[in-house]
Amino acid sequence: MDEGKPVIVIASHNQAKSREIAAILEQGLNDLSAITRLLADYEGAAEPEENGSTYAENALIKATACAKFTGEIAFADDAGLEIDFLNGQPGLFSRRFAGESTPFPQKMAIILAQMENAPDAERTARFRCAVAIALPNGHAETYEATCEGIITRSPRGSGGFGYDPIFFLPRFGCTMAELPPEFKNRISHRAQVMMKAIPALRALFTGDSHAKNIEAQSG
Ligand code: IMP
Repeated sequence: MDEGKPVIVIASHNQAKSREIAAILEQGLNDLSAITRLLADYEGAAEPEENGSTYAENALIKATACAKFTGEIAFADDAGLEIDFLNGQPGLFSRRFAGESTPFPQKMAIILAQMENAPDAERTARFRCAVAIALPNGHAETYEATCEGIITRSPRGSGGFGYDPIFFLPRFGCTMAELPPEFKNRISHRAQVMMKAIPALRALFTGDSHAKNIEAQSG
């Protein structure tokens, strides 16, 4: 029976990403038996337009719309890949880069072609991720984190999603797509930002003082 258990709705229609978020949330809130649901499972759930000018604004748009629609605590993220040689592109437009429906192998091939002449030292990049927690009453809070890496010269690995196969992690000697999922979920930009956000969620469910901070800081 799920009655009385804390519920969090993940405000994303991207299944691969939602799986990562759910796994990290379930691990972080394990002792509270929190239940994670997907917005896509709610009939009539629309995807709000992500027209913010920062990752945090986009996460906030998604989380607040989801909390309002479901009446539950909502969690949303917005992330992108910032490549220094391409002046921070694709950045906020990572999902829409080269056309929203263009498959990722093609998007990555375009990036690699644009970087053909970039020397190793100029292939630095980072994933940036913001998350937002929103309550049905409109209160919300955001957090942000990054994960630094290097753009490879060809894709490697089949794990993860999106741009993972061209994102090399010097610390681990492999691409993000070569990491086992449970490992990616410990070190990624998304994992890092969620480690910051989980204490706030925990406090909401256990009623400790941080919950009041969320309400005080937003509005
Ligand atoms: P959004 O946060 O759903 O708007 O996604 C932004 C886009 O950034 C995704 O479609 C991917 O292209 C990329 N992205 C975000 N997080 C990751 C990740 O963990 N690995 C690879 N690509 C990612």
